[in-house]
Amino acid sequence: MKSDANDPIKVLAVDDEEMIRELYDQILSNQFSQSSDPSRTGVSGNEAAAANNGNPAGSLPPPQYDLTLCSQGEDGLEAVRQDEDEFAMAFIDVRMPPGRDGIWTAENIRTVSPATQIVIVTGYSDIDPAEIEKRVPPPDRLLYLQKPFHPFEIRQFASTLAARWQAEKKMQLLNLGLESMVQERTSELRKAYHDIEHQAMHDALTGLLNRRAVFSDLKQELSRTQRKSEPLSLIMADLDHFKSINDTYGHQAGDAVLEETARRMHACVRPYDKVGRIGGEEFMIVLGDCGRAEGLEIAERIRKSIGDQGFEFDGEKIRATVSLGVATTIANQTFEKDLLISAADKALYRAKRDGRNTVRAGGLKLEAIIY
Ligand SMILES: [Mg+2]
Repeated sequence: MKSDANDPIKVLAVDDEEMIRELYDQILSNQFSQSSDPSRTGVSGNEAAAANNGNPAGSLPPPQYDLTLCSQGEDGLEAVRQDEDEFAMAFIDVRMPPGRDGIWTAENIRTVSPATQIVIVTGYSDIDPAEIEKRVPPPDRLLYLQKPFHPFEIRQFASTLAARWQAEKKMQLLNLGLESMVQERTSELRKAYHDIEHQAMHDALTGLLNRRAVFSDLKQELSRTQRKSEPLSLIMADLDHFKSINDTYGHQAGDAVLEETARRMHACVRPYDKVGRIGGEEFMIVLGDCGRAEGLEIAERIRKSIGDQGFEFDGEKIRATVSLGVATTIANQTFEKDLLISAADKALYRAKRDGRNTVRAGGLKLEAIIY
């Protein structure tokens, strides 16, 4: 069913008798449905009017049929095979010497075109409908019509099956539309959710993890490293005299320094380390599987990258430095997050007290903090 719902309805009629094929042609021709002139249809005016779709006056226009006529079952099957669009219906005679019979034809058409509605048209009563139903499923797409038929019957069958075909096609198009709409909405929602999740976890100015996120990462990383008996280092960093940068150069300059600080910190750590902004000019860095020496090394790298090269905003050269405190867990011992934070904080205060732009390490004991 690739074609549009408003395309002509494709109909196949297979019958070995030429007269019957001509009759199909007349009954399903457009002239038949548009005119009641019996001379044009070869059917009486009354019959033509009666067979005109059975549509009451003023209802939808009758369907247009695109009719393919074949005299043998093999030809009918070939026509179905060759056609890109499915036939909406196939009227199939049963006895068609010298070729294959209508049941064989219907069975094979069903395999090629599962949706085609098949009408078995026969004058013989020696065919077991149950047997045909078994060979040409499903039962709701298989009908019988006795020969000799009245043109009205063919017309009724055709218009009823056409209406069903078009309704199914419209439903399919509708479903496709709904499906793509749902997919579109889902991806929009997924993106919105992702954006919200990102916003909820990141600092808007620097793009670093926010306080809540980096604290949560610390907790997770702490339990992970302790499970694996690995050390963890925590760095607390604070830009020195940041208030005076804001006071001297303005808040925009201060923001620019914070953004650049975030970039430099990121450049100094390993890709899997967590860098967060936990306050105005305060930062926390979680270094998993990182011993004291390496933690101090990373902290020193950060100190240099900030203090050794100036910042620039709006043509102004700005100097900023950072003080850092490092605390490291001892492998095989369990530490609470707060104890580690407190140790790093105390190391940071010591760095401040010792003249700023410096790194200090805090030690940890199970209950007490040693310097
Ligand atoms: Mg026949």
